[in-house]
Amino acid sequence: MPVCKNCKEEWRWIETIKKSLTLATGMTCPYCGKKQYLTAACRKKSSLSILLIPLVMLIAILFDNSSPFFLFFLIGTGVLVVCIQPFIMELSDDEEPLW
Ligand SMILES: [Zn+2]
Repeated sequence: MPVCKNCKEEWRWIETIKKSLTLATGMTCPYCGKKQYLTAACRKKSSLSILLIPLVMLIAILFDNSSPFFLFFLIGTGVLVVCIQPFIMELSDDEEPLW
């Protein structure tokens, strides 16, 4: 679970999910109110995990299968990717450049 670099409090899973679903670049710490940013390494890891979704779609297309199983599997993968985000999240006080 991500830990605030300012107050060292660990964010709860549900708070992290809610904050990560917003499109804003920074996330306000629920404990101290200071803006926190994802580290560059963490942003790379999370974009890799998001790549799982098109990968699953590709597998579904390759097998040319339109059964509800693939739709279920695709939704399941999407939910899983969102759910694991807090576990790979690392916070930073400053917005780090990706490269
Ligand atoms: Zn804090």
